[in-house]
Amino acid sequence: MKTVVLKFGGTSVGSIDRIKKVCKIIAFYKKKKNRIVVVSSAMSGVTNELINKSKLISNNFDKAEYDTLVSTGEQVSCALIAGRLKHIGFKSRSWTSWQLPILTDGPHSGARIKSVGIKELNKYINSGGIPIITGFQGISNDFRITTVGRSGSDATAIMLSKFIKADECIIYTDVDGVYTTDPRQYNKAKKIKKIFYDEMLEMASLGSKVMQPTSVQDAKLNKIDIKVKSSFVLKSGTLITGSKNNFSNQIITGISSTKNDAKITIMGVKDRPGVAASIFRPLYKNLINVDMVVQNISQNGKETDLTFTIKSEDLKKTERLIKKNKSISYKKLSFDKDLSKVSIIGVGMITTPGITYRMFKSLASKKINILVISTSEIKISVLISSKSVKKAVAVLHKEFKLD
Ligand code: ASP
Ligand code: MG
Repeated sequence: MKTVVLKFGGTSVGSIDRIKKVCKIIAFYKKKKNRIVVVSSAMSGVTNELINKSKLISNNFDKAEYDTLVSTGEQVSCALIAGRLKHIGFKSRSWTSWQLPILTDGPHSGARIKSVGIKELNKYINSGGIPIITGFQGISNDFRITTVGRSGSDATAIMLSKFIKADECIIYTDVDGVYTTDPRQYNKAKKIKKIFYDEMLEMASLGSKVMQPTSVQDAKLNKIDIKVKSSFVLKSGTLITGSKNNFSNQIITGISSTKNDAKITIMGVKDRPGVAASIFRPLYKNLINVDMVVQNISQNGKETDLTFTIKSEDLKKTERLIKKNKSISYKKLSFDKDLSKVSIIGVGMITTPGITYRMFKSLASKKINILVISTSEIKISVLISSKSVKKAVAVLHKEFKLD
C-alpha cells in the first residue's frame, strides 16, 4: 500500500463547490487502496482578510496573536473537507497543528517545521481514516501557535511526507505545473515534465509563484519528490526531484523575468577594504534587499564604480540612505528604474560551453541592451529595460529550443 500526501492550495478549496470537487479527488486516491493524508491551505482570500483585520486593530499587532489569528483559515477548510468526506461515506477527521503536534523553530510568521507527530495519525490511517491536516501552522517550544511563512502549507505537506515516509507528495494548485516561462506572458511556454530542485529554487525565487521557495528547499534537504498538479483540470503535472533518471538533455530548463527592478551606480568610491560593507550596512539595517552587485576594476587603484540593483519601491529610501551615509565618499550617484532581470536557468549549462555567448548573441540580434550581468552555476541573468522583456523572453525561448 502506498502512502500519499495530497496538499490543496487556497484556490483549490476556494469555495464550497471547490471543496466538494477536492473531496472527489481524495476519494479517487482512497479507492485505489492508498493510505491518504490531506493537507489544506485556507480558502483563497481568507488569510489576506485576517491580515487586514489585524492591521485595523493595531499597526503593531502582537506577533504571537498574529499567528494565532492568520492560521485560523486552515482550521475552517480542514473541517469542511473532513465534513464533506464523511457526508459521502468516508471516515475522516481534521487535525490542527497542536493536536499532532507539528513542532516549529524560529520566529513567528517565519518558523520552520522541525518535527511532525505521526503516532496517532498512523493509527487513524491504519483504521481506514483520512486525516485532514491544517497547513501553514505549527507550535513553538512554549506552546504558542506559529506560522511558517506565506504559502507555507507547501512546507507542511513536504515535512509531513518526510515524517510519515510518504511514497508520493502531490501539491494540487490552480496551474497544471511549472512552465518554461510565464504562459500568460508568452504563449509558446511549455509545461516542464521534470525539474531539479535547484532549478525550481531559481525559478521560484525569481518569480514563478508555483511553490514557496523555502518549501522547495525543505524538499531538497529531505529528498522528497513533489508532483505539482492542477485540481481544476485532469492533466499530467510537473515532477520536482533530485533524481537524474529520465531527464531529457535539455540545457536550459526555463526562463524567468522580474518586474520593477532599479539600478544604482555609485561612481568614484574609494577603493579600499570595507567600502562595500559600509555601503550595504544601512541597506541591510533597513531591510532593503540587494540583488545584483557589480564592482568595476579600479583604473588607478584609488577609485572604483559600484552598481547594484534593488526593487523600485525601495529606490527613494536607498537614495536617502546613501546620501546620508557619512562613512563613504564618492563622486557621483546615478539611478535607473523600470528595469527587469531576465534569467535563463538549467543545470545543463554546467557542462555545456557557449551558453553565455548564445544568450548575449540572441539579445544582440534584437538590439536589446544589457545593463548588468550576473551568473551562478545554473543561471545567467541580465538586467535590461522592462520594455524589452517580452522580446528577450521570446528570443531566448527560441534560441534554447524551448518553443
Ligand atoms: N493560507 C496561507 C497563505 O495564504 C498558507 C498557504 O496558502 O499555503 O499564505
Ligand atoms: Mg497558497
